[in-house]
Amino acid sequence: MKELEQRIQQDGIVRAGNVLKVDSFLNHQMDVELLDRIGAEFYRLYKDANVNKILTIEASGIGIACLAARHFHVPVVFAKKAKSKNLDGALYTAQVKSFTYGKEYDVTVAQKFLNEGDTVLLIDDFLADGKALNGLLDICHQAGANVAGAGICIEKGFQPGGANLRKAGVRVESLAIVESMDDTTGEVVFRQQ
Ligand code: 5GP
Repeated sequence: MKELEQRIQQDGIVRAGNVLKVDSFLNHQMDVELLDRIGAEFYRLYKDANVNKILTIEASGIGIACLAARHFHVPVVFAKKAKSKNLDGALYTAQVKSFTYGKEYDVTVAQKFLNEGDTVLLIDDFLADGKALNGLLDICHQAGANVAGAGICIEKGFQPGGANLRKAGVRVESLAIVESMDDTTGEVVFRQQ
């Protein structure tokens, strides 16, 4: 998605440790008009996949998933990171290792919100090593739900998550794939798609 690539070039900041900061428009302050166009693009890609639910992970995925859901007209479920006292009833739980924080944590989804027979689109802001998506896939597997695929805003193509998931047969659609980035020059190079 050219607009997203241009916005990354304009406002993204490359940090040491392979971290791309896009918090001025994507995952802290959010440009909702851009998120809406991102949602429309996910819909264009997955409109024939019979998606009836969008699954994401808190916190950064939620806004993106909600704008996408406006195009699909389906509910959003987000996997919760904290075990809240409000999470009652049976739960699906998966372990995720955070790329940005480096720690392992559990994500949970109430079983009543994800069922056998659901066809799920997974949405997230970034795909790096694939740990977050693997956690969501694990939860879908526990639920017996079908996975239509993943819609990712920014894939870091120099990390193995995207290649591993595609090799495992998961459809992964990334709107911008970063081929390389340099924290000294700030240069970001995108894969031609
Ligand atoms: P993965 O689980 O694929 O290794 O990493 C994806 C998760 O880590 C995403 O949910 C995202 O929040 C976070 N993440 C990974 N790489 C980056 C990055 O370069 N910048 C930001 N802002 N978040 C990232």
